[in-house]
Amino acid sequence: MGKLSKIGVLTSGGDAPGMNPCIRAVVRTAIYHKLGVVGVKQGYQGLIDNDMYEMTTRSVSNILDFGGTILKTARCADFRTDEGMEIAYRNLKAKGIDALVVIGGDGTFTGALRFSKKYPDIAVIGVPGTIDNDLGGTDYTLGFDTATNTVVEALDKIRDTADAHDRLFFIEVMGRDSGCIALRAGISAGAEAIMLPEKETAITELVESLKAGEHNKKSSSIVIVAEGDKHGGAYDVAQIVKEQIKIYDVKVTILGHLQRGGSPSAFDRILGSRLGFAAVNALIAGETQKMVGLRGNSVALTSLEEALKVHEFKLEDDLMQMMEILSI
Ligand code: ATP
Repeated sequence: MGKLSKIGVLTSGGDAPGMNPCIRAVVRTAIYHKLGVVGVKQGYQGLIDNDMYEMTTRSVSNILDFGGTILKTARCADFRTDEGMEIAYRNLKAKGIDALVVIGGDGTFTGALRFSKKYPDIAVIGVPGTIDNDLGGTDYTLGFDTATNTVVEALDKIRDTADAHDRLFFIEVMGRDSGCIALRAGISAGAEAIMLPEKETAITELVESLKAGEHNKKSSSIVIVAEGDKHGGAYDVAQIVKEQIKIYDVKVTILGHLQRGGSPSAFDRILGSRLGFAAVNALIAGETQKMVGLRGNSVALTSLEEALKVHEFKLEDDLMQMMEILSI
């Protein structure tokens, strides 16, 4: 690959708070190093539709506190095809772009890796941006902290009303394959139980522990159900439990897409800034097909292959045990 001259930046897949601080860092770091920087709209769709624009330091003014992504995001079926990739490549070449920073989740990285293997003269660095925290090579993904805080705020409010009425609430949170939000929010808000995709919960045990809570004079109980739980969604679980337990009035709340929105937390603003800064520095150092992540509070590079393969189990056993003991 020749000398780096122009970087394209895009956000793809599900949006996550912290993407904007990351875009800002990519743009300003690139400009600091006298590189051109082009914003690609709607993820990979913008590469195919040629929907891109030159960015300046002012293009990213006052966006640190915005949720969502100023570049927009999309799921793009055409980029999965060889024809789509070729159009994207030609559009990049025509604009003189020789590197990409892609901010997204595992699908985004899978596409980036395929593209970069096909067209190795376009260097690619990935930034983990997904509220699910389900990528290897990084302790945290962008948006996970903000989403967890959003869930905790909602749980605190639900606790007030649950307590006032002696109710049992089943709260469904995001996480198709990952119980990270459920576990951390559960600890923070003192949930009585959590149900996760990674670990099957026996309904009989859940019922016993809820009964024990009532026996211990608990006036309310909250069970968090991650959407990927094997028993189905929160409504399904509530129905099963309702048939076996008569002590509480049972209610269900699905938190849904509000978990994706909102101003990024300070943690996600810092993480986005660090990873965007590191992504450009990695490209300048000649790296490609890597992800920048945070490991033990240091920025670390991992191959995209590893980041996709590892799919680390981030539900630390000690946290699981602690939650059970502290919620008695
Ligand atoms: P999230 O984890 O929040 O869902 P994600 O990045 O995993 O984010 P996806 O919709 O799975 O979101 O992927 C984003 C985009 O990446 C897809 O819409 C598609 O354009 C591209 N992509 C995914 N898989 C491939 C693939 N095998 N080949 C080429 N492109 C792909």
